[in-house]
Amino acid sequence: MALHTPRLIQQSPHLPFGDKQDASFYGKDILSVKQFSRGDLNFIFGIAQEMSEMVRRVGSFDLLKGKILANVFYEPSTRTSSSFTSAMERLGGSVIPINEVRYSSVSKGESLPDTIRTLEAYSDVIVLRHPEIGSAELAAKYARKPIINAGDGIGEHPTQALLDLFTIQQEMDRIDGLTITMVGDLKYGRTLHSLARLLTLYNVRLNYVSPDVLRMPGHILDEVNETSIPQAEYNSLDPVIGESDVLYVTRIQKERFSDENEYESVKNSFVISPETMQQAKEDMIVMHPLPRVGEISMDVDDDPRAAYFRQMEYGLYVRMALLAMVLGKA
Ligand code: ASP
Repeated sequence: MALHTPRLIQQSPHLPFGDKQDASFYGKDILSVKQFSRGDLNFIFGIAQEMSEMVRRVGSFDLLKGKILANVFYEPSTRTSSSFTSAMERLGGSVIPINEVRYSSVSKGESLPDTIRTLEAYSDVIVLRHPEIGSAELAAKYARKPIINAGDGIGEHPTQALLDLFTIQQEMDRIDGLTITMVGDLKYGRTLHSLARLLTLYNVRLNYVSPDVLRMPGHILDEVNETSIPQAEYNSLDPVIGESDVLYVTRIQKERFSDENEYESVKNSFVISPETMQQAKEDMIVMHPLPRVGEISMDVDDDPRAAYFRQMEYGLYVRMALLAMVLGKA
């Protein structure tokens, strides 16, 4: 069986940071995946690859020594927040963590632009998660330092999509030619909105599987339609599980529902189990941005095709790459 072995570390010929085309990310914001070309992605993934090798060899190094990241989270986070912290610290920089805005002046009514203007006085780059669509763009309007969007409500989550794509590339050795099936909460799942957009740069096939009330938003379907990427919607996994190369599962996002009954009626719509995996290709991978709340049974975790924990680690390298790039060190 050609099953997946963890392939987190692969060798690349040059170390460190040599021979890469300069994509000029220095000083730039990262707000939406729409800003990236395929060339940009190759560049980012090349740097992420080198970051993984450096972490493996030396753990931490001083590429961003003296630089400070303000990590500002108006919504809960485990992975995004801690991976940005780890990324900055592994690069020799330091972090101002504002993980609980309740204890900052936001609770006194301070506006987002003022909070951002304050934090940029003390830092070199700001990572922002905020519940409103467009908040990162708003922050970027006021900030002179780079803003990295770590999730703007149900809008986008560009750094997650970058790490998702890096995961696919590392695990499958290619992106072109793959069939990617997205399952769960496609309406509120910002990671999927970003990933679907990013995948339009490749020659892929997209399947969307969700309850009716959680279908992929029309504006994303329209954007994909403007390209030649085939896409199709389903309310069952059965017709597509056997043809999928990547199964991207998402959590039904309780916090986004205004009607709790509606959440209750759809919360267990899709659960990936060992039985589901029996119908899947031997080299399919299962991804999930995490946290999961039951949509992938823990019995699947030991299946080599379960890539979701490896996916988190790929995220560290992508975020190290992004920080180095926007701070002019890649
Ligand atoms: N961690 C992801 C996000 O922040 C997915 C989730 O919360 O379900 O969007």
